[in-house]
Amino acid sequence: MKLTLPTLLEAAVPIVAKLEENGYEAVFVGGAVRDTVIGLPVKDVDIATSARPEQVMALFPKCIPTGLQHGTITIVHEGETYEVTTYRQESAYEDYRKPSGVAYITSLEGDLLRRDFTINAMALKKDGSVYDPYSGSDDIELRYIRCVGDADARFQEDALRMMRAVRFIAVYGYQPTVSTWRALKKHRELMQHIAMERVQAELDKMLAGSDPRRALSWLHASGLLFKLKDKLPLLQSLIRNCTLSTRQSSKVYGRISLLDDLDCRWAAVLIESAISSEAADESLRLLKLSNNRRMRITGLIRLHENALGVRSEGAVNAPSLKRWWVETVIREGRQMSEDWLLVEAALHRHEVGSGSDAIDLAMLKDQLNAFPIVTLKQLDVNGRMLAQRLMKPAGPWVSRCLHRLLVHVASCELANERETLFEQAELWDKEDNNNE
Ligand code: ATP
Ligand code: MG
Repeated sequence: MKLTLPTLLEAAVPIVAKLEENGYEAVFVGGAVRDTVIGLPVKDVDIATSARPEQVMALFPKCIPTGLQHGTITIVHEGETYEVTTYRQESAYEDYRKPSGVAYITSLEGDLLRRDFTINAMALKKDGSVYDPYSGSDDIELRYIRCVGDADARFQEDALRMMRAVRFIAVYGYQPTVSTWRALKKHRELMQHIAMERVQAELDKMLAGSDPRRALSWLHASGLLFKLKDKLPLLQSLIRNCTLSTRQSSKVYGRISLLDDLDCRWAAVLIESAISSEAADESLRLLKLSNNRRMRITGLIRLHENALGVRSEGAVNAPSLKRWWVETVIREGRQMSEDWLLVEAALHRHEVGSGSDAIDLAMLKDQLNAFPIVTLKQLDVNGRMLAQRLMKPAGPWVSRCLHRLLVHVASCELANERETLFEQAELWDKEDNNNE
């Protein structure tokens, strides 16, 4: 088989050529080859070579010894980075994840043998010819995920491969071969040895893929999430919901792929599975998501809960709903509020909740677009000006007053002009004095 190299690989040909000119072998490997054979765009370029790391470093002045202990050097070439790894073979594995050592070898076939699945164990030469000793391209044709060699041994060496298998099954729409699937189910207890960060990275890739629903179904079938180092009760119920749910719900999960943003997808999946923001927070913490991401996802779920709360209080008559929405947008910011509308739209199409008190999303969107300002910074007065004008010492009243002004301006009930705002503040102040 001979392929036309995609641009990203073409750009890396000078590196391969230089290694070859110096008497070494060098080929493209890994995901880039898999995706080229499938006909998908390539993400990152990995090169394998018979040259030892120190020989690679001697040839390329701009390099970073990123993973020297595994034989990996990162080469910078015309602004792009490429990982160049010496052919290697891994010795006995420790802790079901890390090999206890690596040995450099001179055979490409030996290097491909240590890789996880046949579709990931092909090499591509710079002339476009494919070296495929484990028949990965046949498996691509058959749409199979198959371990290289003995599946039992491969999953026992490195349990993370089981998560990777589910990810490739989901993202590529492939099936596992019988022996690979049987081995995966047999060894799923070994997931307890895998760092939660790695589980998170795989879940992210599954949810970011073209078919999150398929990923959740296969995850359920695999049972892998039931065997993690830290127990995630919510994920179990999530997956159960997804697979046992009605056709309607599976349609909803299907629509999650309409969302571009990964964290919005997370939020949508969790909302659809009726998982509370607190429970989500706990699980996302265990999965070691960054604080920013965790807070964003749980914030989106909290917005959903608030919206349902407004509904159940029967407060969906137009003015009080609008007031709730203004307060929400001021608190959460415009971006977060827009993201939430997208999440709800993916889940429910038109409205939050159902029946006569459902909240119409299009109306919220129109209102949001019409809010002239949503932050205190945009207000034409600040606390110091207010204190001066009302001739009162600063105190908690200042921020209360500013917030009240902002709510009125955002709702288009007051113009954002200094004098108007001062007058309104004076009026409220007078009212407050009268009430005391
Ligand atoms: P992607 O980049 O889309 O996540 P990938 O297959 O390229 O998928 P990488 O982590 O970039 O994954 O790894 C590059 C290659 O290294 C893989 O294609 C595979 O050949 C090999 N590899 C990666 N992880 C493992 C593993 N846990 N066990 C065996 N081989 C692996
Ligand atoms: Mg890759």
